[in-house]
Amino acid sequence: MSSGGESGVYDGNCHCGAVRYTVKLSPPLPEYVVTQCNCSVCTKIGYLLVYPSIDDFTSTRGEDQLKEYRFGSKRRPHRMCGNCGCSILIDLSETGQNTYALNVRMFKDVDLDKFKYKYVDGKNLALPQYEI
Ligand SMILES: [Zn+2]
Repeated sequence: MSSGGESGVYDGNCHCGAVRYTVKLSPPLPEYVVTQCNCSVCTKIGYLLVYPSIDDFTSTRGEDQLKEYRFGSKRRPHRMCGNCGCSILIDLSETGQNTYALNVRMFKDVDLDKFKYKYVDGKNLALPQYEI
C-alpha cells in the first residue's frame, strides 16, 4: 500500500555533531505543520516537533552518545546529546505509537521562520500539573 503523498528527507544533527540522523517526513517541509506546545517540558527545552514514524528515522552517528530524561508517566524518554545537551527527540514507542516526536530545530540549515505551526495547549492538557 502506498501513501501516495509527497515526502522529504532531512538530515539532522546536534550542535556538536556527535549525534546525526536522517529522517523522512510526509508531507515535506514547509507543508508539514510543526507543533509548538506550551507544556512545562516544551517550554523549558524549546521543542518544535514533527512526528515521523520510527521506521522513517535512521541514526547515522552517535546513538550511544544520547542521554535520557523521563518524568511523569516515565513512558516517554526524551533523548539529548550527552556532550552538547541538544534535545533530539521524544520516543513515544512505549506508549504504543511507532513514532518519534522529533525536534525540528536539529534539522540541518533549518529556517524556523518558514514553517507552518500548530499551537498546542499542553500546559492545560497535561496532568498532573507541573510543579517544582
Ligand atoms: Zn552534541
